[in-house]
Amino acid sequence: MLDLTNAPCRDRPELAPGAGDEPPTPRLTREKCGPALRLCAACPLRAQCIAHVRPHKCGFTGVCGGRLWFDGQIIGQLATAHHSELPAPVNRKACGSAAGARAHRRAVEQQCDNCASFHARYLASISDTPALIGGEQLSFGDLT
Ligand code: SF4
Ligand SMILES: [Zn+2]
Repeated sequence: MLDLTNAPCRDRPELAPGAGDEPPTPRLTREKCGPALRLCAACPLRAQCIAHVRPHKCGFTGVCGGRLWFDGQIIGQLATAHHSELPAPVNRKACGSAAGARAHRRAVEQQCDNCASFHARYLASISDTPALIGGEQLSFGDLT
């Protein structure tokens, strides 16, 4: 059980879009919850938070583990977020290539040893790209 007693987000409702007339969309989620991502910056519980909520599996929308999620996909993350905070990787035939790294990102899991360098190249290629909605995970930059 995740103990949130000392979590920076304790009693902070803005981590998820509230019930309203407007159904959540990636844009709305970013507007409403994006600023709350900074709460995760100094949180030591990121990996446990993701393991507990399992946002990809349950189609989570909101802030969890230093990432902003929409329907189980990462739509933004702190620059300090690291793939080691995600669930363990599945080994695939494509491992050891850019396609293998992409498959890990799509499954929202860690990069295996053979794919880590391809993932690092990918991150370098998008480092100046502003955060986008949907698709690949991109950085919001460090919001601290
Ligand atoms: S990682 Fe973020 S959402 Fe999870 S407990 Fe820490 S501050 Fe809260
Ligand atoms: Zn791999």
